Amino acid sequence: MNSKDKKKELRKITAAGVSIMTVALLFSSIFSGNKVERTTLWAKPFEVHDSIAAIDETHIEIENDDTALAGEFEKAEAGFVFDREKMPENYVVIPKQDSEDGLAMISDEYNYRTVYLDIRDKSKNFYSTSSVVRYNKSEKFTGEPVGQVFPPYLMAFINGEAEPSENDREAYDKYEKENKNQDESPDPVANIKIERKDKDVTRFVLTFNRLYVPELFEDDDNYYISLRRPKDVYKKILVIDLGHGGKDAGTFSGDSKVYEKDTVLKFGLKLKALFDKQDDIKVYYTRLTDTFLYRRTRIDLANGLDADFFLSIHNNNYTVMGSPVDFNAVRGTEIHYNEKIKDTKVSSKQFASLILESICSVLKTKNRGVVEGSGYYVLGHTNMPSALVEIGYLTNKDDLKIIQNNKKMTACAEAVYKAIVQAFKENEE
Ligand SMILES: [Zn+2]
Repeated sequence: MNSKDKKKELRKITAAGVSIMTVALLFSSIFSGNKVERTTLWAKPFEVHDSIAAIDETHIEIENDDTALAGEFEKAEAGFVFDREKMPENYVVIPKQDSEDGLAMISDEYNYRTVYLDIRDKSKNFYSTSSVVRYNKSEKFTGEPVGQVFPPYLMAFINGEAEPSENDREAYDKYEKENKNQDESPDPVANIKIERKDKDVTRFVLTFNRLYVPELFEDDDNYYISLRRPKDVYKKILVIDLGHGGKDAGTFSGDSKVYEKDTVLKFGLKLKALFDKQDDIKVYYTRLTDTFLYRRTRIDLANGLDADFFLSIHNNNYTVMGSPVDFNAVRGTEIHYNEKIKDTKVSSKQFASLILESICSVLKTKNRGVVEGSGYYVLGHTNMPSALVEIGYLTNKDDLKIIQNNKKMTACAEAVYKAIVQAFKENEE
């Protein structure tokens, strides 16, 4: 490249998504356009497109109206100049190769503190670990990251291994012991993997030492991933945990046809549709598909984000071990909270009460009350006001009707949404 063509300022590029599928779709649609000249998509402040719906939107938008999308993004970021001097404390620099043609994407797998950076590059095996240069406030890091201890679920994720057993207490005990007196690694990147994604695309899999909000920028020489802490980007952060998933079906209806993991997911997508319409509260979801997650992953996300509130969504069941049961004997909605978090502006109990009252006012189910629940793993280990709601009993035929009623569940999602907005409001006062 001619040096006089080089631009001094950095350009912010790409939309980001959490799913591998998002990237695949974006790539196939943008790349199929085959614009060889540098394509810069100006991104709005980082948005995580992480639901099935969002993937579809992204896909359709780009495929149907590529230029309109780029235009909209450009408008959103007009006048934006990235100043290298004003880089955050932590960031990553990846020098461009002559063989790459300026198309790159990042996607964020935040449950695993991992980012995929995909660069279209015709040459194979050009990049290595030494291509990834990391900075924190005072130091520069090159080569293989060292000195990081990963929790078992993250270790398994990085190694692409079979998951550790949910009951593998020993592995977690060992991790806690090893990690107790250990300072966090100063290198923001804790693990680097480089893969050939398809014949034209090199994929960097970067796992970080902490949870960040990653943003991708470029100038003519380098790609830059800026790593800001979530609380430095978003004033209000909520974690919505959709219980169970994948091989963990949760509870089920009396006829064993309806699984909790599915009803909870459906409800979560309704909540997401509501939160997507606002940008005051940033919401992270533990899952938005039928995937298995460890309890530890769920709390590490909430604690790692320093979230303001944590809400776990479930449906209940009624069984008595070893004896025949009248499934219909018990019904209603209850909510559990973490008694240990009570000195915050809005306590766990207040947070839980707001949600339960709001649900019961629209669903007209039996109000089973606000119950102390710090014995629940996810409630007992989160550092912020937390609640776990059991919306109705799948085992009760009347509750099941409500849970399967689309209108009623939409109203219920609106009730939960309003209660959460209210909790944030009270948190500010
Ligand atoms: Zn459950």
